[in-house]
Amino acid sequence: MPAAQPTASPRQRTDRLVIAVDGPAASGKGTLARRLAAHYGLPYLDTGLLYRMVARTMLDAGEPLDDAEAAAASAAGFDDTAIDESRLRGREIGEAASVVAAIPAVRRALIDRQRRFAAASAGAVLDGRDIGTVICPDATVKLFVTATPEVRAARRHKELAGRGEAATLDGILADIRRRDARDSGRGDAPLKAAEDAVQLDTSALGVEEAFQAALAIVETRRRG
Ligand code: C5P
Repeated sequence: MPAAQPTASPRQRTDRLVIAVDGPAASGKGTLARRLAAHYGLPYLDTGLLYRMVARTMLDAGEPLDDAEAAAASAAGFDDTAIDESRLRGREIGEAASVVAAIPAVRRALIDRQRRFAAASAGAVLDGRDIGTVICPDATVKLFVTATPEVRAARRHKELAGRGEAATLDGILADIRRRDARDSGRGDAPLKAAEDAVQLDTSALGVEEAFQAALAIVETRRRG
């Protein structure tokens, strides 16, 4: 009688699944990435939090955000187990994060910890701006999530209102346009879709519809 075959583990080494989710602020990429990670049982990293953490450290220390040396030291030195998300989510920190994220030495200091995260044996889901282009160029699947600036502003407005942070829709739209211009226009690792990324426009999609569309893209790529 042949020996019983070991039951195949749900995800073996050859099955590694790395999903890169990039896109502009409030495009819905975070919600999608989190849901994909839960669906596949993979660890998830919101890489925007790393840049927000650098900005928070600089603001707390009273250092100017354009002090490249101090920003790089802060990026190299912070303890990511100490991230307190509630202090990183505000409007001011998003803006400050995009300023420090344009400093090449800050980006260099954060590359290794993102790549280490993506090297987990089962794979991982990471979201950000340069995951498919710089951090995980060999990701199994790359999604580039977009939505119109108006739709993104409305989403961010709702989210901020939910947290009791007052802001006008016009003010948020102006923030979003400024942040898009800075993130797309910087010289180092600008926000852009990798050549092999699949674009997903969530402007007209609800959360569930966007998730189903993302899942279909991931499954097609994995099988292909
Ligand atoms: O994604 P989130 O809005 O939290 O990111 C805050 C800022 O951090 C972005 O506007 C961007 O400038 C920067 N960022 C980046 N690269 C990433 C993630 C975030 O430059 N991978």
